[in-house]
Amino acid sequence: MCLFCKIVNKEIPSNPILEDDNFLAFHDINPKAPVHILAIPKIHVESFNEVSGELMGKMTTFIQKVAQEMDIDKSGYRVITNVGENGGQEVQHLHFHVLGGAKLKWGHFSDADPKGHF
Ligand code: 5GP
Ligand code: ZN
Repeated sequence: MCLFCKIVNKEIPSNPILEDDNFLAFHDINPKAPVHILAIPKIHVESFNEVSGELMGKMTTFIQKVAQEMDIDKSGYRVITNVGENGGQEVQHLHFHVLGGAKLKWGHFSDADPKGHF
C-alpha cells in the first residue's frame, strides 16, 4: 500500500484539515509556504495522468473548500500537481499542493533552455 493510502487508512498519522467521503486534505510534512496543504483522493490514483474527469470535477470543489478552510481563497494561492519523473513526483498517489499564506515566488523551473523544445 502506498504512503498516502496509509495516511487515508490512518496507519500513518497526518494533520488533517478537511475530509469528506472521497477526499482528504492534510498539512505537508515539509512545508514550502506558510500554508502548504496536500489534497488527495481517498482511492488510489497514481497521478494526474490517470484521474477521470468526473473525479477531477469533485476534486476541484474540494480544493476550493481547502482554500476557504485555510482562509487563503481571497488573498490567493497556488495549486500544483507534479506528474512523473520530469514533474518531480515523489509520492505515486495523486495529490494537489495548495500553497499560500504569503506572496509566492514564480520559480526557476529548469536549467534547460526554456526555448529549446520547439
Ligand atoms: P511530490 O514531490 O510527490 O509532488 O510531493 C510529495 C509531498 O509529500 C512532499 O511535499 C512531501 O513533503 C510530502 N510528504 C512526504 N511524506 C509525507 C508524510 O509522511 N506526511 C505528510 N504529511 N507529507 C509527506
Ligand atoms: Zn495510494
